[in-house]
Amino acid sequence: MCRQEAFSGLLTSGNGVPYGSGSERNHRRAIPMKPRWLIAPNPSSMTLDGTRTFIVGRSQPAVIDPGPDIEAHINAIVRLLDGATPVMIVVTHNHPDHSAAAASLARITGAPIHPGGPCRIRTDMGEIDLIPTPGHTPDHLIAVWPAGRAVFVGDLLMGAGDTTLVAPPEGNLGDYLRSLDVLEALVTAAPAPAESDPAAGDPMPAGSRAVEPQAVESVEAEPVTLYPAHGPPITDPVAAIARYRRHRLERIRRVREALAEGLPSDPEALLDRIYGAGLDSRLRDAARGSLAAILEYINSR
Ligand SMILES: [Zn+2]
Repeated sequence: MCRQEAFSGLLTSGNGVPYGSGSERNHRRAIPMKPRWLIAPNPSSMTLDGTRTFIVGRSQPAVIDPGPDIEAHINAIVRLLDGATPVMIVVTHNHPDHSAAAASLARITGAPIHPGGPCRIRTDMGEIDLIPTPGHTPDHLIAVWPAGRAVFVGDLLMGAGDTTLVAPPEGNLGDYLRSLDVLEALVTAAPAPAESDPAAGDPMPAGSRAVEPQAVESVEAEPVTLYPAHGPPITDPVAAIARYRRHRLERIRRVREALAEGLPSDPEALLDRIYGAGLDSRLRDAARGSLAAILEYINSR
């Protein structure tokens, strides 16, 4: 059920035919498929409009990030599965807003829960490769779905803004920046589209009707879409990854600058200087954690 194989990357489809190769560009190729998803009713400043639970496949589906342990949400997932037993319940990382529903969903459906680490899953809509991308947490992974030209990025990126939480003790900034590189390598290995199509399924609040995956009519290579667990899909992955990296490097630069001016190597002391005194009180803890990760990163160099 969970085989570890050499990952072939987004450049190759499930049957080993390269996407967008010179000879193939002139021919109609497999049309990317779309995931279905639900948005859990757990909105907050950290989860945006709520955790997205993705379903890839129909008769042999995989569930990615079952979400918080909220009965209405779990019932909505079960309804969307429409009697199918998932081949795997995948959790991008073990934070409760992603993973807490896994046990209930496994009990109801009889599906196995992915134990963590690299893995290849076979659904009836193609294979999904789970690739470790630590940084937000040590166990974080992304799910690469070549047949859908899609990467489910968990909390590596959010669907809005330019930052995600990286804070000790779980978070590690060096790991995070390397994981952005891993994702960028996957995305840039795919050919650039001539014109971007917002390759998104329809979001649904938990409990609403199911939406069928829509095929995209195109003979050109489709762009890669990133599906974060929070916020809408990202259809400009290269720019988004660059934005997230730039934001973090700029923060590192400004902390180095403050230290060089003699400010103490202490998150509390740096908070107002880096984030400004007007920072939303609900975000101060996250900002303090983020500064701690930056200090750890600087001190480890
Ligand atoms: Zn998380």
